[in-house]
Amino acid sequence: MSSSDSSNKTLDQLSVQVLKGVGPSMAEKLKALSIYTVQDLLFHLPLRYQDRTRVTPIGALQPGGDSVIEGEIKAADIAFGRRRSLVCRLQDGTGTVTLRFFHFSAAQKQNLAIGTRLRCYGEARRGSSGLEFYHPEYHAIDDQKPPPVETHLTPIYPSKDGLTQIGWRNMSKQALTLLQPNTLIEWLPQAPELGSAPVSLETALLYLHHPPADATNLTSQALLLEGEHPFQQRLAYEELLAHNLSLLKLRQQTQNYGAPAMAVKDELSPQFIKQLGFELTAAQQRVCTEIRTDLKQGKPMLRLVQGDVGSGKTVVAAIAALQAVASGYQVAIMAPTEILAEQHFNNFSQWLTPLGIKLAWLTGKVKGKARQQQLAAIAQHEASIIIGTHALFQDEVVFAKLGLAVIDEQHRFGVHQRLALKEKASADIGHPHQLIMTATPIPRTLAMSAYADLDTSVIDELPPGRTPINTVVIDNARRAQVVERVRNACSEGRQAYWVCTLIEESESLAAQAAEDSWEQLQQTLPELRIGLIHGRMKPDQKVSTMQSFKDHELDVLVATTVIEVGVDVANASLMIIENAERLGLSQLHQLRGRVGRGSTASHCVLMYQSPLGQLGRQRLQTMRQSSDGFVIAEKDLELRGPGELLGTRQTGLAQLRIANLERDGHLLEAVKQDAQNIIQHYPAHVDPLIKRWLADGEQYAQV
Ligand code: ADP
Ligand code: MG
Repeated sequence: MSSSDSSNKTLDQLSVQVLKGVGPSMAEKLKALSIYTVQDLLFHLPLRYQDRTRVTPIGALQPGGDSVIEGEIKAADIAFGRRRSLVCRLQDGTGTVTLRFFHFSAAQKQNLAIGTRLRCYGEARRGSSGLEFYHPEYHAIDDQKPPPVETHLTPIYPSKDGLTQIGWRNMSKQALTLLQPNTLIEWLPQAPELGSAPVSLETALLYLHHPPADATNLTSQALLLEGEHPFQQRLAYEELLAHNLSLLKLRQQTQNYGAPAMAVKDELSPQFIKQLGFELTAAQQRVCTEIRTDLKQGKPMLRLVQGDVGSGKTVVAAIAALQAVASGYQVAIMAPTEILAEQHFNNFSQWLTPLGIKLAWLTGKVKGKARQQQLAAIAQHEASIIIGTHALFQDEVVFAKLGLAVIDEQHRFGVHQRLALKEKASADIGHPHQLIMTATPIPRTLAMSAYADLDTSVIDELPPGRTPINTVVIDNARRAQVVERVRNACSEGRQAYWVCTLIEESESLAAQAAEDSWEQLQQTLPELRIGLIHGRMKPDQKVSTMQSFKDHELDVLVATTVIEVGVDVANASLMIIENAERLGLSQLHQLRGRVGRGSTASHCVLMYQSPLGQLGRQRLQTMRQSSDGFVIAEKDLELRGPGELLGTRQTGLAQLRIANLERDGHLLEAVKQDAQNIIQHYPAHVDPLIKRWLADGEQYAQV
């Protein structure tokens, strides 16, 4: 590296190629890990450390754990057992241990001659001759003046093909020498308090790449390994802060637009509620009030409604929609699947047509003339409520007066789609209000980080009269018994779902599995009317099958997980899930939520293929023990991590480099306050922080 290049530049302006040994091809490999600059390299932290700072007496070795030993070779022989190996006996004043090599060269054998003194590094394990080291790292040392042991812990970096640990150490060492005062700007107004004296970024990075000997004391080493060392927490804090800021910035930008103030007296909702045939729960009423208040403001609502499966979110959405319609605006309602969109359309038509409200319907499958008609109805404000799938985001869809967008089952929509909404607003009305509904309860830590730009409401109460679902777990081998259960339930006039799960990420394989089960069940249960629904069927076929099931023209519905979200048939009280161990907890919870909607006792049978792995066992047990979506979501987060839970990449959270939401969730409260503080008092720090930490940070700056 030439110092003229690097002077006056901060590390985010220095390409990794200023480092010795890093050329274009290495830079290309680093790019795959989102490492472009010297700053990025410094944020690529070791995964763990090796302790090579002291020599362990052979007599004191314990099995497991790596250690450095030193001694003299007392014997070196080829052993012919099941596998040929080179066996050396190494001795110091305290004991003897075996070094065993299954692969070795002639030169190696020569170097490991009797009388040679070695220093070795590796893991001691129990073997046939007592403790043994398999293929330890070793080098010969001079008896008279052994070289000093390492003074620092040895970092092990997360790596990928073509990058070696020696390479990483070489790069980080150079990067650390470039880390001079003022080359890495502190954007935090104050270093956060993390149970220790405030730490500068520079100190933290120096330490973490190259922990000094004092880190070898056991507590700080354990902390380091867990990622809970105050210096790691310092970086995790800043990273979480940057993510929080990026979302707050999105929110701020949205709120800079005006939005229609829907303050008219709403006469439609009371009529609507009267015709429902039930009272709203207290939780529904509270959330409706929160939404009503938001809609009256002249700035865009950004509200997330969380409610467990069956808590009655659709009605809440309808009431919000009515307020918008009564104020003369259009409402877009977006669902993640055709089936769900269709169901919403049916519900809303039934509820709202009597009130004289016109609806339109748009999905990818609405084609030709029908499509033109729907588009015209939307553009000319003939329709006030427009229901559909992602298709509503397409360019050709032009709303006359969009005032509110309701997004059902948010976890399938990403930040980017949320952003696309603003394009749909006509300039004179401003940004539409947004109501986001999710049936997957989101653990608090996730909600605080992934949805920091949203206000949240929780429907934390189920409508009265629901009986809890009884969940049992049964081996696939007892399938015949399960089939009998289906026969009994249906002979008593109830209905059942039989769900076949994905074998891989392949809807066609799942469809095949469902077809097989369907045929088999028809043979075993000839007296029952059995329908089939899967993702490869035509949309109108799916919809009409669903309708037949609703109308009780079918007793059993064999399905793939396409019915996962939202489908509502109150008379269905039995849910069978084949190979339930393949599904994540949230998905199982969603599926199970399809039953238990009426007043008869409902049952869910989770069938599994034995042997059951550890993860599968834990999931099924959780399902048996809990029916609370929030409890299940917490467990899911614990078992799977945030990325999968939110179906992300979209949320960006999967790309956290240093922070870990489970481990670092306790930082979020402080992060949130700090983010507000920075936005208000240090606005110039916002963009640099976002850019430093978010892989696509630039994008946020442009929104
Ligand atoms: P989700 O929150 O899972 O979307 P839905 O909105 O589909 O739940 O509601 C589930 C069922 O409960 C629907 O049949 C709906 O009509 C009914 N429901 C909603 N609110 C109430 C209520 N307050 N009392 C009784 N039934 C209700
Ligand atoms: Mg729903």
